[in-house]
Amino acid sequence: MKLRTKLWLSLVLSAALSMVLFGYMTVWIGKAANKGYALLELNPLAQSIVDSIEEQPDFGADALKRTLERAREQHPAIRFLWINDQGQSLYDTAGLNPTFTFHDLAMLMKNMPEKYFKEDNVPILTPATKDGQSYFLLISIPASEMKQGEVYFLIRKTTSLLTLVLPLFLSFLLPFLVALWLFSFLNKRIRKLNLALNRLNIQSDSPLVELIDTSKDELGQLTRHYNSMANRIRTQFAEIQQFESKRKLLLSNLSHDLRTPLTTMLGCAEMIRTGNYKDQKELQARAKIILQRCRYMDKLLDQMLDISRHDAGDLAIRLETHNISELVRKMAAEYIMILDGDHIELDIEIPDEDIHLPIDAPLTERALRNMIDNAIRYGKEGRYLGIHLTADDHTVSVIVKDKGKGIAPEHQAHIYERFYRVDSGRQGEGLGIGLAIVKDIALAHQGSVEMSSTPNVETVFRINLPRQYPYNRL
Ligand code: ADP
Repeated sequence: MKLRTKLWLSLVLSAALSMVLFGYMTVWIGKAANKGYALLELNPLAQSIVDSIEEQPDFGADALKRTLERAREQHPAIRFLWINDQGQSLYDTAGLNPTFTFHDLAMLMKNMPEKYFKEDNVPILTPATKDGQSYFLLISIPASEMKQGEVYFLIRKTTSLLTLVLPLFLSFLLPFLVALWLFSFLNKRIRKLNLALNRLNIQSDSPLVELIDTSKDELGQLTRHYNSMANRIRTQFAEIQQFESKRKLLLSNLSHDLRTPLTTMLGCAEMIRTGNYKDQKELQARAKIILQRCRYMDKLLDQMLDISRHDAGDLAIRLETHNISELVRKMAAEYIMILDGDHIELDIEIPDEDIHLPIDAPLTERALRNMIDNAIRYGKEGRYLGIHLTADDHTVSVIVKDKGKGIAPEHQAHIYERFYRVDSGRQGEGLGIGLAIVKDIALAHQGSVEMSSTPNVETVFRINLPRQYPYNRL
């Protein structure tokens, strides 16, 4: 069933139910809350007394007294008077026996129900005939003994109830109509949202349909959530697609990168096997080429392993207190040796004192090597390599600097992404995973990695490690 139909149905049903409920409640609550005599009971009561007097065979003062006193015993709040056609009281249960003029009697009969509101006593005058003579039974009730709640309804004829029912019906209808308007307004907004959700196409290049709903209610919030969700899904999908294409490119690069050295190695190995070389020097040169290519392939395989570990989210760290000055000093010495003769200015600043902190030494070394290798590989034109170690009370930082081509601002935000390479077309340099690993290692130590680069002036990578690892994370 559609929401609209449901709304109409509930409207009609609840309107009908409210009316029925209103009727029943008025009667029940009226009965429960209004103690006393109902107006409709009084006439039959008076008539029953008149009937019993009229039916009595002997009619005298005693019989009259007996009848009226019995009635008073049953209804102590009511005063009963028997009056003859001259206006004289023949018996008064209050014992006052007043005399009435014709005018008095007429006034008692006039506008009887109004006396409910205006006078303290409500009189009901009932004519009687006995032995051919006219009499009146006057019963008088204090207004406080009457049922107050029924008055308004019972004094009106059924047809005149319309004047009550119609306004009542209209006043019931108004809130329902307002509710209906509100519901259909909400329904329209939900439909719009539904339609937009149906049409949401994350792959399409067409611009996203942005829904505009400025209201602050829940639907407005939902619409805004939808807009941001749709945008997010689109960008995330685009990112995934980009990631996928990078992955494919990486695979083709990788197979190329593995095949090229392999071809060279095969050529050299074949030459050595057949003895087809000039002298010992050429043999050494060929063996060196094979060794170099093997190392290169070994490195590539290491990086592939990193990728699969990264995919599995498998970067378990084992923290132990290490002297990081010692570690960086050892690595710097190694790089001094490697770069010997390359005409690269080496700027090493490592404090003499020991700096101890909890780290996973192999992982930290790997991160530092990735940073230094990058500085050498991508910054070699700058002919400068800086390795600095600084420490304050909370953090130890290793800074790696070069003065090479640097990283243009538009690439800087992406370089920690997996497979992101500034010059993605070039093969044989790397897989775009190195800095992602550096960042992972820094984060696993509750540290951070920062970068700043002014192309051809200075490129700085800085890894910050906390001196105290938060114990609850250990
Ligand atoms: P790769 O395996 O390509 O070296 P990285 O994640 O280590 O992957 O680096 C990502 C990219 O960032 C590199 O492809 C390179 O273009 C750029 N990059 C990293 N370090 C430097 C640097 N010191 N100078 C210039 N470019 C750099």
